[in-house]
Amino acid sequence: MTYILRCDIAGTPLRWISPQDAVRHYAMQTIAWELGDVAQRFHGGRRAVDGMRTVIDVSAIISVHGPVHSASVRQVPPLSNSLLFARDQFLCLYCGQSFAAGQLTRDHVVPRSRGGKDTWENLATACRACNQRKADRTPEEARMPLLAVPYVPQPAEYLILSNRRIIGDQMSFLRSRMRKPKNRYVA
Ligand SMILES: [Zn+2]
Repeated sequence: MTYILRCDIAGTPLRWISPQDAVRHYAMQTIAWELGDVAQRFHGGRRAVDGMRTVIDVSAIISVHGPVHSASVRQVPPLSNSLLFARDQFLCLYCGQSFAAGQLTRDHVVPRSRGGKDTWENLATACRACNQRKADRTPEEARMPLLAVPYVPQPAEYLILSNRRIIGDQMSFLRSRMRKPKNRYVA
């Protein structure tokens, strides 16, 4: 299923909603604007006037009338292993090799035993072997430098990471909403 990107009227992307949720906004005529290709076409009942079947085309990106929600967009997105691995592009940040999600682990850069927290900035994707080798040490102590600096994904990036079936218009819209291209890899 293609999810629909819901924005506030100012154009800040808020969340993914199902096409069924989106079509309700069309039916209630609360759509402020829409962007992108038609993501899904819904067929309704026949109109009394001429017996024509009603059709609602739901666009890939929609904005719904109402208060501007920007302030309510969580600045720190919720953390999960799958989002963490996606942020790090399924690479182990220690050996640089690519792995399937099932073979990756959540590594605490500063170990929990030293007060390291479960935060985006203190978590790195690591393969099992590297995680075991690093054990209860910092990267410096283990002489295992990180290949990239862990960071908090921006809201637009979080929306990219949390949906694996983004269509072209949505991706370019979200990319244009990211604050700046980052060059996060440490040479
Ligand atoms: Zn590794």
